[in-house]
Amino acid sequence: MKVLVSFDIDGTLEAGDPPGPITMQMVKKAKEHGCIIGSSSDRPLPVQQNIWDRFDIEVSFVSAKHQLPDIKTKFPADKYYHIGDTEIDQQYAKQAGFDFLWEQEGLDEPWIT
Ligand SMILES: [Mg+2]
Repeated sequence: MKVLVSFDIDGTLEAGDPPGPITMQMVKKAKEHGCIIGSSSDRPLPVQQNIWDRFDIEVSFVSAKHQLPDIKTKFPADKYYHIGDTEIDQQYAKQAGFDFLWEQEGLDEPWIT
């Protein structure tokens, strides 16, 4: 089963400001498991890319949150997750047909099947 995981950054990832509970190691693990990964954040796309580069993680996309529908179109998958820490994340995820996970729910790594 192909799974795509979109990560919010601030308040969600440990590299965010403020830092969130999802470690970059967990992101790497998701990728190693075969998940399509990337970020959907309010940060400018080059800033998002810099964060991934800094941690030497190759992502398939960096995106604005309102672009989640485009991500879905571009990457066929069986399951789509967006993980974030605000109701805005939840709203955009739902509108795009993604399963929404609160940042703490991500600690269970539900994308590892
Ligand atoms: Mg956030």
